[in-house]
Amino acid sequence: MPPAAIRQVRWPKWSDMLQSLSQSDAMKLLIVKLGGSVITDKRKPFAIKHTVVKRLAKELKGVPGPLVIVHGGGSFGHPLALKYRIADGYREKDQLMGVSLTHLAMEKLNKYLIEALQKEGIPAIAFQPSACVLSSDGRIKSMELGPLRRILALGLVPVLYGDVVFDVKKGFSILSGDQLVSYLARKLGATRVVFGVDVDGVYTSCPKRNDRAELLRVITPSDVKLVASMEKDETGDVTGGMQAKVRELLELAKFGVEAEIVNAARANVLKEALRGKRGLGTIVTGGK
Ligand code: ADP
Repeated sequence: MPPAAIRQVRWPKWSDMLQSLSQSDAMKLLIVKLGGSVITDKRKPFAIKHTVVKRLAKELKGVPGPLVIVHGGGSFGHPLALKYRIADGYREKDQLMGVSLTHLAMEKLNKYLIEALQKEGIPAIAFQPSACVLSSDGRIKSMELGPLRRILALGLVPVLYGDVVFDVKKGFSILSGDQLVSYLARKLGATRVVFGVDVDGVYTSCPKRNDRAELLRVITPSDVKLVASMEKDETGDVTGGMQAKVRELLELAKFGVEAEIVNAARANVLKEALRGKRGLGTIVTGGK
C-alpha cells in the first residue's frame, strides 16, 4: 500500500493528459538541438565541455510546455563514424564493431547530458533513435513515435541524439541530429525549433576560417543558391555541417515550422530563444 500522502494525490486521468497534449500543448511543443560543437570540444576525442553543459542545463530549466532535446555527436560520434565509414553503409564485417562503438559513444554523451539535466530538476529520459527508426538511404523511412508521444504527455523530457540507424538499403547509416529534429518537428507538430551552435548563426561562409564572413539574419527558400555556395566546413562531421543543417531547415520551413540557429556558447542566448525571443541568430523560415 503506498503512503497516505501519495494515495490522496488525485492524479489526472491518463487519457485526459494525452488528449490535452494533442489539443493544445502540441501547438507549443518546442524542439531544441544542442550542437556537438557546443557540448563537446570537436578538436579532442571524447571531450565534453563540462561547464557549458552545466550552464545549458540551467538554461533549459523552466521552459514552458513540452520540450524535446536532441543533441549532436561532436567529438564522440563523428570520429568513430568516420573511421568505420558508417555513413557509407555495410561494406565489410569489420564495420560492425564501428557500429557498436559509435552507438556506445553517443550513449555515453547522452548519459552525461541527462545527468546534468537531472541535477537541475529536469525529468530527462534517454530515447534511443536506433531502436525506433528505420532509414532508407540515410533518410528516415519510419519511426515508432508512440512512446515519445506518451513521454511528452506525461511531462518528461526526452533526450535523443544523432545515431547509427538501421537502413533498408544500406544496412546501416548515420542519422544526424539535424534530420531527426526536422522529422520530429513535422510529426509531432512543433511550431518552432531552436538550434544551438558555437557561432552566432549562419554566415555567408565559415566564420572561423573567413574574417569577412557575414552573418545572415534570415534565410528563406529564395536563398537556396547562397546556401549551395556555402563551402562545407572541415570539422570532421559525417553529417555535412552547417550547409546540411540549413538545407534540412529549409525543407522544414516548407511545412511552416520556423527555425532559429543561435549561439548557445554565449550565456543566456539559448535561454532567451527558448522563451520566445526572436532575432538572436539566423532565422530559417518559409516566408518571402
Ligand atoms: P553542431 O555540431 O553544433 O550541430 P556543426 O558543426 O554542424 O554544428 O555546425 C556549426 C559549425 O559550422 C560552426 O562551428 C562553424 O565552424 C561551421 N560553419 C561552416 N560554415 C559555416 C557558415 N557558413 N556559417 C556558420 N557556421 C559555419
